[in-house]
Amino acid sequence: MGRYLVNFDTRELEAAECAFLVLGSGIAGLYTAHTASSFWNDVVVLTKRGIDDTATERAQGGIAAALGPSDSPALHYEDTVVAGAGLCDLEAVRILVNEGLSRVEELIRLGARFDRADGRLDFTREGAHTRRRILHAAGDATGAEIQRVLSSTVRANPRISVLENHFVVDLLIENGVCWGVLTYDNTSKKLKVFRSRVVVLATGGAGQVYRDTTNPKVVTGDGIAVAYRAGAEVMDMEFVQFHPTVLALKGAPRFLISEAARGEGGILLNAEGERFMLRYHPLGELAPRDIVVRSILKEIAESDRDFVHLSLAHLDPVRVRERFPTISQRLKGYGLDLTCDPIPVAPAAHYFMGGVKTGVFGETNIKGLYACGEVACLGVHGANRLASNSLLDGLVFGGQIVKHARFHAPQSVPGRAVSEGLEDPGGLDADALVGELQALMQEYVGAVRFGTGLEAALRRFEEWERVRRKEAASPELMEYRNMLDVAELITEAALMRRESRGGHYRADFPESRERWKRHIILKRQV
Ligand SMILES: Cc1cc2nc3c(=O)[nH]c(=O)nc-3n(C[C@H](O)[C@H](O)[C@H](O)COP(=O)(O)OP(=O)(O)OC[C@H]3O[C@@H](n4cnc5c(N)ncnc54)[C@H](O)[C@@H]3O)c2cc1C
Repeated sequence: MGRYLVNFDTRELEAAECAFLVLGSGIAGLYTAHTASSFWNDVVVLTKRGIDDTATERAQGGIAAALGPSDSPALHYEDTVVAGAGLCDLEAVRILVNEGLSRVEELIRLGARFDRADGRLDFTREGAHTRRRILHAAGDATGAEIQRVLSSTVRANPRISVLENHFVVDLLIENGVCWGVLTYDNTSKKLKVFRSRVVVLATGGAGQVYRDTTNPKVVTGDGIAVAYRAGAEVMDMEFVQFHPTVLALKGAPRFLISEAARGEGGILLNAEGERFMLRYHPLGELAPRDIVVRSILKEIAESDRDFVHLSLAHLDPVRVRERFPTISQRLKGYGLDLTCDPIPVAPAAHYFMGGVKTGVFGETNIKGLYACGEVACLGVHGANRLASNSLLDGLVFGGQIVKHARFHAPQSVPGRAVSEGLEDPGGLDADALVGELQALMQEYVGAVRFGTGLEAALRRFEEWERVRRKEAASPELMEYRNMLDVAELITEAALMRRESRGGHYRADFPESRERWKRHIILKRQV
């Protein structure tokens, strides 16, 4: 794996400087920028497409917070730790469930309109939560509401500048200190340098490394790849969460049918029309996601089709329409009625528990470099994230970074970086390369893994090594290179972990093992 994606010499590039630099404009990036603006008057957010082109904007089900009458942070803590299957960082979980309360209240103060019943916040339940603690907005459009509020808050703040169409290509490091980033401005088609004493990665997860994913096109693992190439530690890369109920209709995109559909009483039916989940777990459809995923895959394998059905037909149709307006509307476009039709669903890649290793203040092993949101891994979700905890994670640990950086930002470094010798990319076809990679990951590194399949995938990565000798001359090729780097890290970690735990399932090692109750940390030698 090379250090940089393109040839450059920072002395020859246009350079800008700011006090606090945030990469990414989802919940983690925008909330960090908003919080940082209380202490720095020169905060810049770089984002590779439009400000609202994020996974955050797509979130449906909601955001978890123990604000309900019969709930408490202690119960939320317990549910999070149980779902995490022995790998949660307990201090991080404690911070998440406690700090989360005031962060969500702040979102409400900023203007987030969460759904209410009789004037009070209306909480729903999702898989593996023992209480109704999920706040939602406009039924199933929670992410869009949060993105709306944060985007307008940040845009209205004169201390924050948002630069869209700025693709972060690589991090610039000298003597273990991050002094800035190399970006590609997709409007002027030029490379630029941004210098800053604080650099926050908030670039989201990596769902696009799989063929079937709920994640938008922008989620290509860039942050994990740039950090790894720069010498940051990455952790828990083998833990990928697959979502059990994603629309599985030929020709239609993999549209998520929120977990809340099962929380409200939706049931899963196999090819025989049998409700099967209670055979696999006492919580039935609300069992932890990995269990629901594998149960569905087993039912699919025993049938002649590649989906099972989700049915809400036994529920009050008025309530269903009210609760799931966005999903109902989307399904209508495919001729399906959520209130009465069985909806074909199958699992798809959804969330990355792993990422850039951080402490509870978002700090990485590189001075001045922080990470939060889905790109980061501090062990708060352990081996399996509890539904609706990820939006909360972005808020809470974005805020934590600001607390730390105020006192620990390194002195500015007059850094310089040069990259040379990468070959001309010639006729590399990014779409074809991405398609091949996604198919490989889907087949060998999906929800059910075998050692032999993982080894086969690693052999293919070796064959593709030649691509790494070439310059990634367009954002599409840069994304491909990042996906390739991330895919390799997932596969390596999945092969190392000879057990099954949380989101990682090895069919050849189906049990959890006590000696594997630890994290796999990978670091490139630089
Ligand atoms: C369909 C769907 C439904 C979901 N539902 C829920 C839910 O109900 N509750 C919940 O808690 N979680 C949910 N999740 C997960 C949750 O939405 C994400 O984990 C969370 O939004 C991640 O936020 P983030 O800020 O870390 O990243 P994102 O929101 O993905 O933002 C990443 C940002 O980084 C930018 N970026 C990426 N690479 C680069 C680069 N190279 N240069 C510059 N910018 C870059 C992107 O353009 C984007 O602006 C859902 C996810 C999906 C996909």
